[in-house]
Amino acid sequence: MIERSPHCQATPSLPPQRADDALGRPGGDIRLLQVSAEIYPLLKTGGLADIAGALPAALATAGCDTRVLLPGLPAIRDGLRDAQAVGQFSLPWGEPVRVLRGKLPAVPGAAGSPVLAYLLDAPGLYDRPGNPYEDAQRRPYADNHRRFAALGWGAAHVARGLDPSWAPQLVHGHDWHAGLAAACLKFTAGPPVPVVFTVHNLAYQGIFSADVLGELGLPVSAFQIDGLEFHGQISFMKAGLFYASKITTVSPTYAREIQTPEQGFGLDGLLRSRRNDLSGILNAVDTTIWNPATDPLIARTYSVEQMTGKARCKAALQTEAGLQPHKDAPLFTVVSRLTEQKGLNLVLAGIDDLVQGGGQLLVLGSGDHALETAFGHAAQRHPGAVALRVGYDEAYAHRIFAGSDVTLVPSRFEPCGLTQLYGLLYGSLPLVRAVGGLADTVVDADLATLDDHTATGIVFASFSEADYRHAVRRALALYRQPRAWARVRQTGMQQNFSWAQAARHYRAVYAAALPDLSRIPT
Ligand code: ADP
Repeated sequence: MIERSPHCQATPSLPPQRADDALGRPGGDIRLLQVSAEIYPLLKTGGLADIAGALPAALATAGCDTRVLLPGLPAIRDGLRDAQAVGQFSLPWGEPVRVLRGKLPAVPGAAGSPVLAYLLDAPGLYDRPGNPYEDAQRRPYADNHRRFAALGWGAAHVARGLDPSWAPQLVHGHDWHAGLAAACLKFTAGPPVPVVFTVHNLAYQGIFSADVLGELGLPVSAFQIDGLEFHGQISFMKAGLFYASKITTVSPTYAREIQTPEQGFGLDGLLRSRRNDLSGILNAVDTTIWNPATDPLIARTYSVEQMTGKARCKAALQTEAGLQPHKDAPLFTVVSRLTEQKGLNLVLAGIDDLVQGGGQLLVLGSGDHALETAFGHAAQRHPGAVALRVGYDEAYAHRIFAGSDVTLVPSRFEPCGLTQLYGLLYGSLPLVRAVGGLADTVVDADLATLDDHTATGIVFASFSEADYRHAVRRALALYRQPRAWARVRQTGMQQNFSWAQAARHYRAVYAAALPDLSRIPT
């Protein structure tokens, strides 16, 4: 049943737009709108921004005419170039939104023309400094349901022709922030516009009181088990999972894990029922940004053929972090949001063993106060061997991967994980738990994989202090065998996490979601 929502005017269908668009930009054979809350390089709190930033260019290369829709958060608004208003609409509660179209800044070294972005200019919702989701006390903003319902409605309006010069055939929403897009499209009049919905992290669901349903502009019939109702509340994540045509997540293993009660966060039943529409597409690395051979942010560039620069990077990092300048001390590092998900209590429990084994530890992160404090105490206990930088620092993260020997990612769960990929490419062996995308991207160093040169890191199985500590001991032992270490490092640096391949997979999902295009070669 198609119901019509009073505040969203249906517009006539646009004519087919296969050739160049009104701005003279080359058209791809699939026009699509990416919808996300953050995007590198303008605003980043985690891996979602890296993916949202890299995907449009990769998709353009794969023949998709891709634009993005973003909330008008200050950092995004300030970074958009040549912005001009293309239309406006009213939100269900009456607030007006201007939609601007502009260009995203080009990433240095990236080829291709700038990506076009639509921005929701709604200062009442977005004009707040700092974190996009929380206030200074780290409490979610009380009106987050409105702030991200606006993103869903914005997607529906752009998809229904708000910009007279371009409309997508398909919407691709990322995480719960974009979860309402498919529901908004379903409950407004107009030709069907398929939505592909990607789960970057099922732990964050956008759950709100049922009391706000009236504000969302969706019919009461949406509030049921076959809809966005979740244990008596509203779940934006569930809306995305339920109403989207196709669902993807960011690694094949996570796609399986989220169908289990252990990792399904209460949505495993729905995900199992949609398993034929669910696929796992491994995240990739934007090597215009993350490449030790060209990285302008590190002390000395290096490559698998010429590794001397890495030692310089390590020495510089030890000095910068206040660690003893021991070139032979294996340097373990963490670059992470400090949350329970990341298994950092294991790292804390293993610090004394790590230091007694001759290792050093450097942590860059922010988040949970208890974890910040605990790492701070560890740094005081082990001056010169353990260091902590609280905060978010993109350039420092590059210097850390370049100077590090081991990248620690002992996560409790990990949809894909990017830091282990950066560790691999920068010659910092990942030490990871075998979960989610970590299991898909790191090959444990054992006798067989050392022998056949497929080992790329250290992998442990169960989320226990004993298993983690054993993994650290194995890393220390491997480090004492320089030839074996160098070989594992070399294999890791030669891994290819290409966006071209990921983009081809996404394109195949888009083609499957667009029935009349299913014969487009993928
Ligand atoms: P998640 O998205 O769960 O945070 P990912 O590993 O997928 O984890 O992505 C994390 C991204 O955020 C990486 O690009 C990582 O380098 C970056 N990052 C995390 N914490 C920090 C920090 N404190 N400073 C700089 N970059 C960080």
